[in-house]
Amino acid sequence: MKIAMAQSEFSDIYEKVVANERIDETEALRLFESKNINALGIIANTANQKKNGNRASYIVNRYINYSNYCILSCQFCSFARKKRDNDGFQLTPEDILKKAREALDNGITELHIVGGLHPSLPFDYYTGMLKSLKALDPQLELKCFTAIEILHLAWLAKTSVRDTLAELKEAGLGSLTGGGAEIFNKEIRQVIAPGKESAEEYLDVHRTWHQLGGRSTCTMLYGHVESPADRVDHLRQLRSLQDETEGFSGFVPLAYQPEDNGIPVHHPPTGSDSLKTIAVSRIYLDNFDHITAYWVGMGLGLAQVALSYGADDLHGTILEEHIFHMAGATSPQEQTRASMIKAICESGKIPVQRNTFYELIEETNREEAFSEAVHDLSGSQWRFPKSCATAGHHSQVKDPESVRCLI
Ligand code: SF4
Repeated sequence: MKIAMAQSEFSDIYEKVVANERIDETEALRLFESKNINALGIIANTANQKKNGNRASYIVNRYINYSNYCILSCQFCSFARKKRDNDGFQLTPEDILKKAREALDNGITELHIVGGLHPSLPFDYYTGMLKSLKALDPQLELKCFTAIEILHLAWLAKTSVRDTLAELKEAGLGSLTGGGAEIFNKEIRQVIAPGKESAEEYLDVHRTWHQLGGRSTCTMLYGHVESPADRVDHLRQLRSLQDETEGFSGFVPLAYQPEDNGIPVHHPPTGSDSLKTIAVSRIYLDNFDHITAYWVGMGLGLAQVALSYGADDLHGTILEEHIFHMAGATSPQEQTRASMIKAICESGKIPVQRNTFYELIEETNREEAFSEAVHDLSGSQWRFPKSCATAGHHSQVKDPESVRCLI
């Protein structure tokens, strides 16, 4: 491998990764503009092995979208509806609690809750939702709201972003989601998401949350009308904020879904482009511990391959995904725990269940987990492999001292 890389066009970058040295934006652009996907994979895999060894993670979680009514009209969004539309929805607090109860029975450790910028729900709908979910199960992690939702809630509460985040934290908010970053370039952002928050506002919401002691993930929507240089610029700004706060737990690149939306994209992201984006992200974002291959946008098959191109996480079971599927994603609405374990085992990695912060809940024996996952996939959904039988939410941390970061 070393000899092959020494003769490659990227030998300088490979040497930097081996020496734990940071690559710059010019080098990241070279990687994005290359068609040598195998060389990128080798370098990214080297970077990932140094951080995460041979482990790959997943989380047992559930998505809840409380409403798809939104006052904005982002061009790429197929999820949002206006009040006049007959397929808009809005969940009552009871609806949300019912979904949460069902998911808790299936062993989730996290609820991931986002929605549109609702035109009339009051601020106490959101704080009430968090409080009632925490009352249902104090251990349940509530990963909620994108940066633009936080700005909307601050406007509703007629207070600052900092005070809004503090109030939401007090009500039970555990982590911010990374959605809404799209692409930071101002001109591109204006085309795909007019009226949405600026890059500075997105970053400032996350900065403020990190300053309050919170952690969050971040994203990049790729494969629409942006250029490779726009992607590098986006990653540069995320890396810079991470240098400042160290508050990002992971990075989740999101493949653009070309169906059912207002941006005419003739060349949506291919499998090769998705692998390249994962690989460059892993190589460039040296201050991020985790890169997620988001199976909803990529499909589980490609996400599995991405585990050899720098990704170390497959995201979650999800149960009910609306946003990508309304944009034309053809992946299933959920993954069973068994199917994620099987995908990880098949890639040669050791499957580990993680929590919201990418911390280890349970590592499973690879051979045992694989055969049990295969067995479970032929039977009922949501059964846990025996070797993971204690890994449900309520027994997630048998020894608090054993909880450690995956790296
Ligand atoms: S992406 Fe979010 S803010 Fe934009 S229209 Fe869709 S729901 Fe609204």
